[in-house]
Amino acid sequence: MEQFGELEAYGREVAGCTRCRLSQGRTQVVFGSGSPHADLMFVGEAPGFHEDKQGLPFVGQAGKLLEKLLAGIGLQRGDVYIANVLKCRPPGNRDPQPDEIEACERHLFRQIELIEPTVIATLGNFATKLLSGRPLGITRVHGQEQPTTLAGRRVLLYPLYHPAAALYTPAMLKVLESDFARIPSLIGSVVPEPAEPQPAPELTLVAPPAAAQVEQLGLF
Ligand code: URA
Repeated sequence: MEQFGELEAYGREVAGCTRCRLSQGRTQVVFGSGSPHADLMFVGEAPGFHEDKQGLPFVGQAGKLLEKLLAGIGLQRGDVYIANVLKCRPPGNRDPQPDEIEACERHLFRQIELIEPTVIATLGNFATKLLSGRPLGITRVHGQEQPTTLAGRRVLLYPLYHPAAALYTPAMLKVLESDFARIPSLIGSVVPEPAEPQPAPELTLVAPPAAAQVEQLGLF
């Protein structure tokens, strides 16, 4: 209940955001939707035409495909949380620009902090690069879960092709479907802790030369 209240309150705050130029052209902020305590969170790119009009993420054609893929693993929109890297529509659906991502990322990180998902499925390049902190593109990393720490918590990052791209490329859709089919097993899995830092190699103590001993004594 507390989580729900805080997420909702944060959404109300973000509704008035003017941190970047996209605030000037938007109809409304598209904050995100779904369960405020979802184990599984999806992060897309940015609102498109329909999302901007309705104020909800993934309500156009890509959203229909996302819903179909969810149904394939026995889930509905209300079981997960869906958000985007950018909360406002870029004009003409152009790519997000680096300064817009930088201005907006605090909203996404706060959402992650409040929702506390265990698996975050990134849809496409922008979400994947932002949340993995690596420049590797989606073609290289899709379907490969990456344990990582986000907003102070261990989560499994799971990069997927963006449904909008898969809509027009049957081969990509096949890959997206098979990557999607692994999601249920990831939700139940334990996210491994990062490897312990290796202890520094033991140093063999060698007696310093007499002159150094004199200098060190002088320190006290
Ligand atoms: N594409 C996205 O990345 N997000 C949406 O909300 C809709 C389409």
